[in-house]
Amino acid sequence: CGIVGILGQHEVAPTLVEALKRLEYRGYDSAGIATVNEGALDRRRAVGKLVNLSDLLVHEPLAGKSGIGHTRWATHGAPTLTNTHPHRAGRVAVVHNGIIENYRDLRSDLAKAGIAHQTETDTETVALLAQHHIDQGATPEEAARCTLARLEGAYALAFLFDGEQDLMIAARKGSPLAIGHGEDEVYVGSDAIALAPMTDRITYLEEGDCAVLTRSAIKITDADGQPVQREARTIRIDA
Ligand code: GLU
Repeated sequence: CGIVGILGQHEVAPTLVEALKRLEYRGYDSAGIATVNEGALDRRRAVGKLVNLSDLLVHEPLAGKSGIGHTRWATHGAPTLTNTHPHRAGRVAVVHNGIIENYRDLRSDLAKAGIAHQTETDTETVALLAQHHIDQGATPEEAARCTLARLEGAYALAFLFDGEQDLMIAARKGSPLAIGHGEDEVYVGSDAIALAPMTDRITYLEEGDCAVLTRSAIKITDADGQPVQREARTIRIDA
């Protein structure tokens, strides 16, 4: 339902939760964040209101200057902790808005490769598939691209990878996603409103776009995999 992501200069957990709060009005049943801290990917998730996630973070803080966050409005799988985003498989964490229509086919292909699913969600197949490509020698970027090529349905997605503190991959098809530009920081948000306290410089991804983000460079390719320039605009939203 709501996506945020930050490659920052400071601890991101509090900012991710703040940004998710700005998306609360859209409704949700659970929420979670993942960060990469000194190379290590970890996550915290909670069913119910964001305050449950904030409370959890008080007792089990999550350090790191790179992170993604999600508020979930369950479409596939009950609103349980197991089904809460970010979903993780090996080195990959992913948050997703929308529906992966062919997740059953993807699941059975993964099962043939000996990879079992652990949640009831359509989203988990995205993480499993990306990790499967990494296991076969793909880089995180290649793994994300190969995974995106397999997906049918509607999505906005943000990926983080264990061992990669300066990498976030974002993609959209049928669900909006914006990139926010900061001072040696970069953000993603399913709605620019989520990013308003951080920046008013926004690039909207177009249908089929995939963005490979680092703090210093943004590389966007279109639905055909061709590099494209997407213009950044200054938007006015009251923070
Ligand atoms: N289809 C995904 C799920 O049920 C994402 C739902 C959403 O957009 O929040 O977990």
